[in-house]
Amino acid sequence: MSDQLQVLNPATEEVVATIPAATAADVDAAVVRATKAQSGWAALAPGDRARLLRRFAVAVDEHLEELAQLEVREAGHTVGNARWEAGNVRDLLDYAAGGVERLTGQQIPVPGGLNVTILEPLGVVGVIAPWNFPMPIAAWGTAPALAAGNAVILKPAETTPLTALRLAELALEAGLPEGLFQVLPGHGPVAGNALVEHPGVAKIVFTGSTAVGKQVLAKGSALLKRVTLELGGKSPNIVFADADLETAAAAAPMSFLDNSGQDCCARTRILVQRSAYDRFLELLGPAIEAVTVGDPADEKTDMGPLISKVQLDRVRSYVTDDLDGIRGKAPEGPGFWFPPTVLTGVDPHARVAVEEVFGPVAVVLPFEDEVDAVRLANATDYGLSGSIWTRDVGRALRVSQAVRAGNLSVNSHSSVRYWTPFGGFKQSGIGRELGPDALTAFTETKNVFISTEGPAQ
Ligand code: NAD
Repeated sequence: MSDQLQVLNPATEEVVATIPAATAADVDAAVVRATKAQSGWAALAPGDRARLLRRFAVAVDEHLEELAQLEVREAGHTVGNARWEAGNVRDLLDYAAGGVERLTGQQIPVPGGLNVTILEPLGVVGVIAPWNFPMPIAAWGTAPALAAGNAVILKPAETTPLTALRLAELALEAGLPEGLFQVLPGHGPVAGNALVEHPGVAKIVFTGSTAVGKQVLAKGSALLKRVTLELGGKSPNIVFADADLETAAAAAPMSFLDNSGQDCCARTRILVQRSAYDRFLELLGPAIEAVTVGDPADEKTDMGPLISKVQLDRVRSYVTDDLDGIRGKAPEGPGFWFPPTVLTGVDPHARVAVEEVFGPVAVVLPFEDEVDAVRLANATDYGLSGSIWTRDVGRALRVSQAVRAGNLSVNSHSSVRYWTPFGGFKQSGIGRELGPDALTAFTETKNVFISTEGPAQ
């Protein structure tokens, strides 16, 4: 494995940067620094910790455009998305800062004394981030972990380390103590694995593939380490015949094409009630063809390239020429381009209908009625997200209750909001991130009983 990481611009294949890859020894040294920094950080007054996190949020805000442009170059994200992503880091830090002074335990009535619970930080937390949303996913783990009094070592994905490194610089400039938030770019099986196996790391927050997530859980469990996993998805977009079909068809393309489909919540199984199937496809065709694929730095672009040649080859392997459907346009020449693709007439058990493609590819499958829709929606090993389009409120609620997934939306495709919990059922993960309980997930609960018994009268 190379001791260098080469960062390519996915839209041009030009080298953006070459940086050293962290070794297991680098992880050891980082854990020593983090452990030292964490004890000082946890001892700070909560208001001071909150203030420093807010300063970090301000620093991110002041460098929002720079971070966004870096994301465009290293990840090929459209500039509009990249600005949103940098803004999301700022908002997560602000939201977490607001929790520092509200991280309260309980007072539980017991006989003979006073009983209180105290939420203590875990210590050093390892965050292993993927390349699909390098900034937000790094911040989902980092912001609440820091707010709860922990130190964080972040290992970004091999292909996208640059925004993470810049965030660590901004944290220092904002006044966060040295060693409290460290970024170690490196190979997953080396630096990532070293974090997972390190006895000085109390918790691992992993986002990535289900296969690697399972290894992380097994290795972490051997040390009784806390592990949360945000893994893949094959989310349904369920369109009932009673829905506003025009709106549902207009919203469907970006529900699986946003970020070139490299989104664990992408609605890649479009399930349409048979009586509305033909009409829906008539509406969907022009909506797909209207998606602009091209230079991600251009404000008018809807969809950029895939992240890498490896990912492009993976996506291509799912879309064979014999498959029917709607295909949009993508640039030719350098860059990892793949056109928006909707496949019809696909066997519901085909690879492309059940596996996570992680590219701009969806299948459309017909269903008969509500029972059939739920059966089809749940016919997957995954359970991350899903959408339900209907004008019938009762049906929306029944189907929301019946679909086995962590994040559902009705008449919209929203999945991730930092105010609300996010995570998966089944093979999509373990644990929840974000939302009002985000900080608690980075604490241990300690119970203290104080006797009120006095001297015998
Ligand atoms: P991956 O799981 O290999 O990588 C995710 C992160 O884990 C990276 O930081 C990587 O360096 C690290 N990692 C890899 N091996 C490791 C190990 N043995 N120990 C510790 N850390 C390790 O994902 P990938 O290869 O980049 O992508 C493959 C597929 O995974 C994609 O096509 C997609 O289906 C899925 N994926 C899902 C998400 C998501 O958000 N759920 C994100 C990225 C990829």
